[in-house]
This record gives sequence, structure tokens and C-alpha cells, in this order.
Amino acid sequence: MPETILVVEDEPALQETLAYNLKKEGYTVETAGDGRAALESARRLKPDLLVLDIMLPELDGFEVARILRKEMITPILMLTARDDEIDRVVGLEMGADDYLTKPFSMRELMARVKAQLRRSRLLREELSKESAEAPHETLEFGNLIINLTRGEVTLDGQPLQLKPQEYQLLVFFAEHKGQMLSREFVLERVWGWDYIGDSRTVDVHVRWLRQKIEKDPANPQRIVTVRGGGYRFEG
Ligand code: CA
Repeated sequence: MPETILVVEDEPALQETLAYNLKKEGYTVETAGDGRAALESARRLKPDLLVLDIMLPELDGFEVARILRKEMITPILMLTARDDEIDRVVGLEMGADDYLTKPFSMRELMARVKAQLRRSRLLREELSKESAEAPHETLEFGNLIINLTRGEVTLDGQPLQLKPQEYQLLVFFAEHKGQMLSREFVLERVWGWDYIGDSRTVDVHVRWLRQKIEKDPANPQRIVTVRGGGYRFEG
């Protein structure tokens, strides 16, 4: 069954381009041009992924995300156009799983869409507890291989002993390869809304992870620190 993507974008030309390119990749695509229509379609379709513009008529994307977050686990990929929007998305007051800044290339979009759909599949599998028969999905970065199906990580073919949070953190980094991730964003997405702690939690876990996956943890090549910002996973 092809996966279903709901594209919410009020600019007709961009909506059409997004729908066209996603259909070409084999996805079932529906579109909505304002926030209210987005809510209706999402509730009816229960899509596997929502591509959600922020500046929309009726309800904006933030509001749509806030409402749908309470109703479904569908991942949300937000499209942002302005710096102040990016701040809000990265700060993750709203329930976006990932974001893209306009203008973006279709190649970038597809990479994010695939990452989020993989997440979506895993969530659904987890919920339905049918993962036993699923083919192994892996993320490979040279000698570092993450087996998403089994929840295992190997380095040079040797299994790594990772704590659950270290594993979650690594998978999150891996799915956002090359993207600058603020500590707050990581905390929010990996530890969750109601986690009581601060962003030093992220630093501590990054340090532990580095000791396990970096050749020289003092000079990390995989998880690099972005000055004044957060971290970036280089693969
Ligand atoms: Ca718009």
C-alpha cells in the first residue's frame, strides 16, 4: 500500500510542485490549501505524513500542528519561510518532527519525507507489535550501522551496548544528518515534552555516545559541536 501524504500549502504553484514530485515517488498525495481544510483532511485520511506550511489562511500551521498532535502520531514536516518561524519551530513550542526552510530543493524534501515516513512506519509497527516479520531497516554510516528493526547498533561489525536514551539520540541524529540541531530541539524530540531537565542532559548523552562511536572522542568527527548552537551529525 502506498503511503499517504497530506500536503498543506496555500501557494498553488508550490502545492502543485510538491504534490507532483511526491506522486512521482509513488506516494498517495492529497492537498489542502488552508488550516481548516488541513484538519478535516488529516482526520479523514489519517495520513502517514503531514507536510505543513506555516503561513496559511484560517488556521496557521502552528495551530494545526498543535491540534493534530493531540489526536494522532502522524509525523509533521513543517515548511518555514521566515527566521522568526524557524526559531519557533526549532524551539519546538509546536509539535513538528522536522522542518525545511523555503526555498528548498525537491531532493532535500524527499530525504526528509523518507526519514519521517520511516519513523512513522516504526511507530506504527511498535504500536501494532508486528515488527517480528518486518524486513530489517538500517542506517549506515561507514562502519557504523544502525539496525532500526532490531534496535541495534554495530561499529566495525561489533554490537555496541547503548542505553535506550543513547540509542534514541543516535537514531535522531542519524535521521537529521548534516542538520544543525539545537540542544532544546534534541531534548524536546528525544526526551519529550514533559521531561524535567535541561539541555545539559543532551550534552551528557552526547559525551557518552561519542565515547562509544567516535574513534577519538576528544576530536569528534561524527557528532560535531556547533558553536553557540548545538550539534550536527556528520555520519
Ligand atoms: Ca504559505
